[in-house]
Amino acid sequence: MAVSFDLTGKTAIVTGANTGLGQAIAVALAGAGADVALVGRSSMADTEAAVAKAGGGRSLSIQADLSTLEPVERVISETVDWTGRADILVNNAGIIRRADAIDFTEADWDAVMDVNLKTVFFLSQAFARQLIGKGERGKIINIASLLSFQGGIRIPSYTASKSGLAGLTRLLACEWAGKGINVNAIAPGYFSTNNTEALRNDPDRNAAILGRIPAGHWGEPEELGGAAVFLAAPASDYVHGIVLPVDGGWLAR
Ligand code: NAP
Repeated sequence: MAVSFDLTGKTAIVTGANTGLGQAIAVALAGAGADVALVGRSSMADTEAAVAKAGGGRSLSIQADLSTLEPVERVISETVDWTGRADILVNNAGIIRRADAIDFTEADWDAVMDVNLKTVFFLSQAFARQLIGKGERGKIINIASLLSFQGGIRIPSYTASKSGLAGLTRLLACEWAGKGINVNAIAPGYFSTNNTEALRNDPDRNAAILGRIPAGHWGEPEELGGAAVFLAAPASDYVHGIVLPVDGGWLAR
């Protein structure tokens, strides 16, 4: 049996697809043949153009603010209305708030936990329900973080959410592997996106981070695409509950 990374005929949902890692993942999945629903609160124009340029699958934009559960059912139903199916869910949308733990506010705690963990769980639940209801296979890919393994500093709700997401990935894998749904996560290292702009703009932090990355450079979003395609494709059908670092070797240090 040939190993397959082909996503032709599959439909993927990517949250936070307008920019950064979500955009790169959407383009990579479309390049492998998937139709991709681009979910988020900002214009998807850049990603729509990049998907069209990449060839392969088509895209549909779905407007959704993921800080509440309001869009959860709608994201699934609008996707299924479009292509008749939803096979792959990439929970990528996420936020970070920086402040010393001693000063951290309830608002910054709740905002991060809502987007990074609560909505991820209920979107995954809605996605899994429609698959299990039809007896079909599917793939969930959660975008975790190095803070799923490490503590970090000045980002208490982010670390809690991403550590929680690693645990949630394992729990959902245990419950749904037997139902034909693979639940896995990718832990990106330090990538050049809006999320890390403050770090890259701080000369000391930038030098310290760069000095610890064996690959010697900040990740470019496109460098995450291969891992996403792998975890979305038949090639990973026996892979369940992993958190796959794509970090230029950071965790190996
Ligand atoms: P980014 O450029 O800031 O992208 C975050 C994405 O999440 C954006 O599309 C953003 O939309 C979306 N989002 C945030 N809040 C939302 C909401 N309430 N409703 C809908 N969409 C929302 O950062 P990124 O680096 O690509 O981050 C993508 C994921 O990777 C995040 O989960 C992040 O934690 C994770 N990650 C990033 C790194 C890194 O080095 N960059 C490392 C580890 C993990 P808007 O543009 O509209 O805000």
